[in-house]
Amino acid sequence: MKRKKIGIMGGTFDPLHNGHLAIARIVKEKLALDEVVFIPDNIPPHKLAKHWSSAQDRYKMTELGICGQKGFAISDLELKRAGISYTYDTLKYLRDSYGAEDDFYFIVGADSLVQLHTWHKAKELIKLCTFVAVTRPGFVAEMAVTLGEFKKKGIENVVVVETPEFPVSSTEIRKLVREGKPIAELVPKAVAEYIRQTDLYRR
Ligand code: ATP
Repeated sequence: MKRKKIGIMGGTFDPLHNGHLAIARIVKEKLALDEVVFIPDNIPPHKLAKHWSSAQDRYKMTELGICGQKGFAISDLELKRAGISYTYDTLKYLRDSYGAEDDFYFIVGADSLVQLHTWHKAKELIKLCTFVAVTRPGFVAEMAVTLGEFKKKGIENVVVVETPEFPVSSTEIRKLVREGKPIAELVPKAVAEYIRQTDLYRR
């Protein structure tokens, strides 16, 4: 049986935005992935000092945002595992459970790629899948340096997928909502509606 190529989009998704969807779609097409699974984190390790919305709200917005999008799925793996969501634990679990049938491609924006060396068990993590790096405004030069360092260290399982730059972030969306400004261009309609109904980011 043919091995499946599964993209993993990990994130806090507070909220999911059109940038997440666009990069997932482009990577899926360019690497001919069978599907991309969005995995909202339970407690984001790299944002411990910050406030973030409940895992339930973030999961729901991610679910609403990918609804009807062919080839996209969502997993509650990190929510169910509870505690701090280390990508190492997630990929180790996926490899141990499905590694015989599937190959995994973990999609990261340039801002995440340049921080990868600080992630939990980074050295082991990098061996568990192919990392797919996409550009992000403000990180072009830093990403090139990081890719150069990977090359020097002989790390080969990092591929770059060229995408347009998507100048959108969850931080910006939360700020716009707080200021009462429109976000309709930046998030799927159902996500904007969920934020409106639940009054998220206003407090
Ligand atoms: P925040 O602004 O709250 O830090 P974010 O917009 O970076 O959030 P996350 O959920 O933290 O969103 O990101 C999940 C993944 O998506 C990360 O790998 C991040 O680099 C990537 N990503 C998010 N937005 C973009 C974007 N506009 N372009 C490229 N990659 C992105």
